[in-house]
Amino acid sequence: MINNKTKEKGDDMMEKDEKIKPCPFCGSKEVDICRTNKQACWIRCHKCEAEGNCAEKREDAITEWNKRVDVEGYASIIVDDEN
Ligand SMILES: [Zn+2]
Repeated sequence: MINNKTKEKGDDMMEKDEKIKPCPFCGSKEVDICRTNKQACWIRCHKCEAEGNCAEKREDAITEWNKRVDVEGYASIIVDDEN
């Protein structure tokens, strides 16, 4: 039998209260916590790779990702590189 050593939630770390909303684009409930250096952390959808704003702290990156704005209507194109 193969011993599947996938990390269980809260296994070796104190489970933090990290409530991360699903992806607003594809609805996926699987996200990645990305970090390139001490100053840059952001949340990325594991499925469609949509990304939240960058922040220094992990919890701020989660706050950025969780931000949702309800707007009526459609966007105007300001810059269009297709033309
Ligand atoms: Zn997504």
